[in-house]
Amino acid sequence: MSIRAGVVAVQGDVSEHATAIRRAADSHGEDVSVTEIRTAGGVPDCDLLLLPGGESTTISRHLHREGIAPEIVAHVEAGGPVLATCAGLIVAAVDANDDRVDELGLVDVSIERNAFGRQKDSFEAPLAVAGLDDPFPAVFIRAPVIDEVGDAEVLAERDGRPVAVRDGPVIGTSFHPELTEDFRIHDLAFFESVARA
Ligand code: GLN
Repeated sequence: MSIRAGVVAVQGDVSEHATAIRRAADSHGEDVSVTEIRTAGGVPDCDLLLLPGGESTTISRHLHREGIAPEIVAHVEAGGPVLATCAGLIVAAVDANDDRVDELGLVDVSIERNAFGRQKDSFEAPLAVAGLDDPFPAVFIRAPVIDEVGDAEVLAERDGRPVAVRDGPVIGTSFHPELTEDFRIHDLAFFESVARA
């Protein structure tokens, strides 16, 4: 039976994430089917979930209005893996430090949105990530940083500030791992732990 992956498709690089998930699964000889999640009812059928970037206020509003938010929370409570990237991480956090974001409370961190400032709105940098042998080509686009870390493991830092964390089955990144050919972050989030277990 194939693994069922759901990519929350409110905004962001949905097809790029789907491609990265397929390639990561392929590298383990696993079959995966990818569904786009826009409404309630799809999440409970998924083994793993991906929350892409975009605009966190918009994504948050959509998830709550459509009733997808409680399904994502239930998925994580049942131990289901999630990769949340950029705005996805902001939405998944315990505290987004922004009243317009109704957080899912899945990753025990507090966030500073758009923290890398205007002059560095977008950049790519090699990033050492715990669990990966070689640096990951990390693309930051109006990226958040993680301000405070509660009960979560920091996987990567940029300029001394956390930009990737793991909290139980959820990995959150400030950067966009779907924008390069490198699928190791998707692998780390979804397949490597399964392969190890
Ligand atoms: N700046 C966006 C926000 O705060 C996130 C940017 C992104 O996902 N690339 O919601």
